[in-house]
Order: sequence, then structure tokens, then C-alpha cells
Amino acid sequence: MHFQWYPGHMTKAKRMMQENIKLIDLVIELVDARIPLSSRNPDIDELGRHKARLILLNKADLAEERWNDAWAEYFREKGFSVVKVNSKKGGGMKSIHGVIQEACREKIERDRKRGILNRPVRAMVVGIPNVGKSTFINSLTGKSCTKTGNKPGVTKGKQWIRLNRQVELLDTPGILWPKFEDQQVGLKLAFVGSIKDDILQTEELGAELLRFMLDNYPGVLESKYAVEEDDDAYTTLSRIAESRHCLVRGNELDTEKAALLLLDDFRNGKLGRLTLEYPPEV
Ligand code: GDP
Repeated sequence: MHFQWYPGHMTKAKRMMQENIKLIDLVIELVDARIPLSSRNPDIDELGRHKARLILLNKADLAEERWNDAWAEYFREKGFSVVKVNSKKGGGMKSIHGVIQEACREKIERDRKRGILNRPVRAMVVGIPNVGKSTFINSLTGKSCTKTGNKPGVTKGKQWIRLNRQVELLDTPGILWPKFEDQQVGLKLAFVGSIKDDILQTEELGAELLRFMLDNYPGVLESKYAVEEDDDAYTTLSRIAESRHCLVRGNELDTEKAALLLLDDFRNGKLGRLTLEYPPEV
């Protein structure tokens, strides 16, 4: 799903979030493991104050494992619980229930002291568009879960999914708007396909990704497309067009098509597991 944000959308999304967050104990925030900072909206730290916090490094299958570990460490040091997941294939899902209990230990302890026993933890999934919220919710709930429907004392219309005796999940995820003011951030969001491609022409976007690849993953394009890598991104892009027979009118090289091919291959993991940003301390 692609999304265009307008000020009206942001105000509405924020208001929804402020409403829903009152109902929950735990914020389950999905970030894209390839761009864990660029795929966050820092407003969530303000909105989620006083709540237990769990960060899921989603699409971990598309990012480099050593950087996934480094990012997990980075967020843990900041006080978050963290799990690396692949929502599409179900990777990492098993450990989540244990981590939720761990993340909510203080709340459970507080309940116990007040004599409240066995009140389920209430959680909400949040994240920017396309980060995998629906995929994750489907993967976590499967078919065995029951929707509990409207409950007395709960805002009308809210649906809760009972995961087990300990956890209930709000069935609609909270949408966070990405922060595209910073051009580098916008670029990375466009690479992973989180925001509409038309912030840049396909060809420019592909060339930017190519530049990143040449700098950070030298040799990958060479072996994937059987081309010699040139320091100049457009030269390399032309070579990819040639190698992949991307042609217009039968003979001219179609570098736009080559750019699209490159972006698709990157997004589908066909260039291998790639991480686009690294934890600040490193
Ligand atoms: P939402 O907008 O946050 O609800 O995102 P979706 O759940 O619609 O997912 C967006 C895209 O990412 C879909 O094409 C999913 O199949 C894909 N996706 C979600 N999670 C993963 C994951 O862990 N790994 C991979 N490779 N793809 C994923």
C-alpha cells in the first residue's frame, strides 16, 4: 500500500493514536530492519511514554544479520524490548509471547500488588505504512484467535483480538507518518518502497540506490548483473540495461527500465540481505 501524507492525514492519524494509546499497556512498534531509524517517527516516544515498549525489527530476512544484531543491541540499550522478525514467513514469532510478558513485567507486578490477577496485557501494533503491520498481525493471530468484540468500558467500535490468556491485541494498527523532511531519510524510505516513488523519478531513484550499492556493497551488482562496476552510477546503470536487454524502440538502452529492475530486485531481496543504515554509535 502506498500512501500520500497531507497535514490532514497526519492530524487524523495522530488523534487516532492518542485515543487508542490510552487503552493499552504495550506499544508494539514495527520498524524496517534495513532502515530502523528512518522508518520510525520519533513522535511515538512521546505518545508511548509510560507504556511498555517493544520494537520489532521486521523484514529482518532482508537485512544483514550482523547489523540486525547491532540494531537490537542499540534499541535494548535505550530500554526497549526487541525481537527480530520475518512476519511474512513467521520467523521470530515464537519468542514474542515471552518477550511481551517480560516487557510488561512492571505492569503485571503493579496489578498484582493491587490485587488484580490475570488481567490480560493490552497491546497495539504501530508503524509507518508498508512496514508490515497487517502481515505481522495476521502472522501473530493466525486463525485460532477469537475477536472479543466490544466490551463494556471500551470505546465503541474497538475490536480486540485475544492472543491467549495473557494478551489482547487491538485489531487495527496505528499508522505513523514517516519523517520525510530529511532528504536522506526520504530517499531510504523510497528505496524500500515505503513512500511513493514519485518523490524522485524512477531513474534518479535507481541511480541513487546504485550509488549506495557501489559505495557500500561493491561487487554485488557485478556478480548479479554480470557488469563491470563504474564509479559513475549512470554508466553502471547503462551497463545493467545492456546486460539485461532493457531497450527502447529495439536498440536504445532503456535506463529507466534498468532502474526499475534494480529497485525491484533490491526490494525483493534478490540482491541479497542489505542494510541501509547503521546504529549511530558505530
Ligand atoms: P502495512 O502497511 O504496515 O500493514 O504493511 P503490509 O503488512 O501490507 O506489508 C507490506 C509489504 O511488506 C507486503 O508486501 C508484505 O508481504 C511485505 N512484508 C511484511 N513483512 C515482511 C517480512 O518480514 N519480510 C519480507 N520479506 N516482507 C515482508
